[in-house]
Amino acid sequence: MTAWHVLGVGSLGSLWATRLARAGQPVRLILRDSARLAAYRAAGGLTLVEPGGSSAYPIPAETANATTPIHRLLLACKAYDAEEAVAALAARLAPDAELILLQNGLGSQDAVAARLPRSRCILASSTEGAFREADFRVVFAGHGYTWLGDPRDPSPPPWLTVLDEAGIAHEWTTDILTRLWRKLALNCAINPLTVLHDCRNGGLLEHPAEVATLCAELTELLLISGQPAAAEDLHSEVLRVIQATASNYSSMHQDVARQRRTEIGVLLDQACAVATRHRLGLPHLKALQRRLVAHLTARGLPSH
Ligand code: NAP
Repeated sequence: MTAWHVLGVGSLGSLWATRLARAGQPVRLILRDSARLAAYRAAGGLTLVEPGGSSAYPIPAETANATTPIHRLLLACKAYDAEEAVAALAARLAPDAELILLQNGLGSQDAVAARLPRSRCILASSTEGAFREADFRVVFAGHGYTWLGDPRDPSPPPWLTVLDEAGIAHEWTTDILTRLWRKLALNCAINPLTVLHDCRNGGLLEHPAEVATLCAELTELLLISGQPAAAEDLHSEVLRVIQATASNYSSMHQDVARQRRTEIGVLLDQACAVATRHRLGLPHLKALQRRLVAHLTARGLPSH
């Protein structure tokens, strides 16, 4: 059986690793450094908290410096850490290595693929929700779906059946870029405004004109980027998501509230960079980026 190496033992990485281990799959965790490895060993494993109770999984772990070859790698760090993380592992990747990239937004996937021209990079877009209650203790907060796909090769990998066995709800798609663009547009329409207005998602119902203007600009952006399916009825879906998640704080809001770096670089910055490349004005989107950068800078957080 091919081992699943999981880099990034945060929310999503732990959610995948524990469910794969529970299904009897060989899993190896890759931690940031020897200090994190020692902390993990002291904790005795990963704990997954679910509605039915919590269970501990003593999954073996190592750092990037281990020497065993990697055939399958689940990259579960934040987008801004992805390129550096795979660079540290490149020498261990077998010639037939496959990577599953769980990063949100767009941009980090291309950077990773460019570093590893021989490896297959499968992109993922997930609506599952998880958060870290404590170090190495993750709460499965929201059931969802993970779409997987490879823009360069439409054939599904044979291990998708393993995900079924592990209870990881997923679907293979030949349109993963449409999914990622759509999610990027949703994130750009909602997350920055929740930070600037310091509100839950539902708070945006008090700013309908701002949301509508952004959706119109994002629709223009998706169309000029050759993503008509991702542009379809964007505004209605944004409103639907705002209503369905009214009591939630967006991931960007949570990051700012906890003084953590945001993923603005692969969301709003990426959207604005694509607009500039197409010589598209999009004044409201660009003003939103400037306001968000000022907001982050004022709080001592990275602005990219
Ligand atoms: P997270 O909880 O912050 O976990 C990221 C993990 O990556 C951390 O444990 C971090 O280590 C680790 N890491 C970073 N660089 C590393 C390196 N070089 N070597 C080893 N480990 C490294 O993040 P997350 O919430 O799981 O998010 C991961 C991605 O999934 C993001 O792009 C996010 O937008 C996306 N996503 C998340 C969710 C969700 O519900 N959480 C849902 C959909 C999509 P330390 O612990 O040492 O800092």
